Amino acid sequence: MAGRRAQLLFAAPCDRMRAMKPDPTNVYHEPARDIPIYRRAGVLVAGGGPAGCAAATAAARCGADVALVERFGHLGGLATGGLVIWIDRMTDWDGQRVIAGFAADVIDRLPKEALIGPPEAAWGSRAPELNAYWQERAAAWRGVVTWSPTVDPEYLKLAHLDLVLESKANLLLHAWAVEAIVEDQRMRGVVFESKEGRQAILAEVVVDATGDGDIFARAGAGFDTDIDETTIHHRMNVAWLWCGVDMERWIQFKQDDPQAYAGFLEKGREALEWIERPHVAWRNDVALFMGPKLSGYSPLSVADLTAVEIESRRRMLAHLDYFRRTAPGFEKAWIMLSAPQIGTRHARRLAGLKRICQADWKSGLRHADEIGLSPSLSPNLVSVSIPLGSLVAREVDNLLAAGRNISCDPQSHLFMREIPQCWLTGQAAGVAAALAVRSGQRVKDVPVEAVRAELRRQGAFLLPPAREGPPA
Ligand SMILES: Cc1cc2nc3c(=O)[nH]c(=O)nc-3n(C[C@H](O)[C@H](O)[C@H](O)COP(=O)(O)OP(=O)(O)OC[C@H]3O[C@@H](n4cnc5c(N)ncnc54)[C@H](O)[C@@H]3O)c2cc1C
Repeated sequence: MAGRRAQLLFAAPCDRMRAMKPDPTNVYHEPARDIPIYRRAGVLVAGGGPAGCAAATAAARCGADVALVERFGHLGGLATGGLVIWIDRMTDWDGQRVIAGFAADVIDRLPKEALIGPPEAAWGSRAPELNAYWQERAAAWRGVVTWSPTVDPEYLKLAHLDLVLESKANLLLHAWAVEAIVEDQRMRGVVFESKEGRQAILAEVVVDATGDGDIFARAGAGFDTDIDETTIHHRMNVAWLWCGVDMERWIQFKQDDPQAYAGFLEKGREALEWIERPHVAWRNDVALFMGPKLSGYSPLSVADLTAVEIESRRRMLAHLDYFRRTAPGFEKAWIMLSAPQIGTRHARRLAGLKRICQADWKSGLRHADEIGLSPSLSPNLVSVSIPLGSLVAREVDNLLAAGRNISCDPQSHLFMREIPQCWLTGQAAGVAAALAVRSGQRVKDVPVEAVRAELRRQGAFLLPPAREGPPA
């Protein structure tokens, strides 16, 4: 029966032609109207993904009156609803946990059974046998064991929710931020849509943590959309979780018989056009597929978003059929979940006061307004300095970006969009926003020393302040 249904879906021409197309010739004039003000807040955060939850919690911990609006019914963004449960590196090449603060608060709150990852004693280890083991479990890279756990998305939702509620931030789910309220080039709040219709939340400072820069785009702030076509940067997909598998058997097969594994991949490519490889999840009987990595679609086009949803699920069924027939450990696999949230790696990036650039971090430059560090891409490079200016809008006052829509070039976006970095920039944006409200200053006038001091108080890792420039 399952096989027959799969065949029916295969028979349909499931490409972008299947998504409803717009009719570009028609316009509807929407009449102006008064809308209710739902509430006033000091800091409004749009988007409850990793960055938005960190921003809302950090701002509330500084004593700000915070409103967090999220379009879906859960928190955690792509890290939960997108099934991106592979939390990237939080340690440097020596095993130092350089992304701590809110990131540590979330991860340390997960119960043991909701996570796999190396013990602290192994972080930074170059021992070959440890690396061989953790490499198969997403926690070793370039010969170094890293703190990069794989987690249960349901517990990750709960951990985000706990932290936000504990901080006393005010939360509104099922609320889609649709318009920026700007007066005299200064943010005044956001209009959102819900089942109750259109309402506004007025705020002194707004943090755009939508991932796609929805708010700063509507506010008229500058942004970039260029992509690095040589990497997966621009690719989109829906991820899949499968159950009923035996991942230890799968790993054994790959290690014991590399030739058979190569044959499996080759035949898979012939049968499926593109073969997606499974990754370990937080349990042996669960496999994670990050999705079919589709090119040529825009995350800002509703027709393209529709097409990626259709195409990803078509490919999921084709993969299930192939894996069940031929992959050791997958004979009894079944689909547990296709991600409720589409996997967009990149949409818009703010054009901020500063921009994180490849040339800078390759030279080891440290920013005077550094608010944290990202692990670097190679043991030959020092950790990457993240400036507060990369979160602050240029043209519109009291507007910050956090998470995967901050100001950086496409090469830096490769790692700045990862979940730990989104927690980090979210926390810094929340602190800067709250301090601006408390002092009555514009965000761009808040002294970075005050932001750094509060981040330290909240458990973030920071080096002693630097003068702007390359290492001495
Ligand atoms: C396929 C794929 C694989 C990845 N692999 C990894 C990996 O292995 N490791 C890793 O660390 N990272 C990985 N990433 C990157 C990482 O998942 C994201 O970049 C990160 O989750 C971004 O966090 P964020 O908070 O900036 O945005 P998001 O996670 O996108 O969260 C944004 C939140 O805002 C909400 N929102 C959006 N628009 C609105 C609106 N207008 N109003 C209200 N709410 C709104 C969304 O519903 C969402 O909850 C991957 C990403 C993808 C797509």
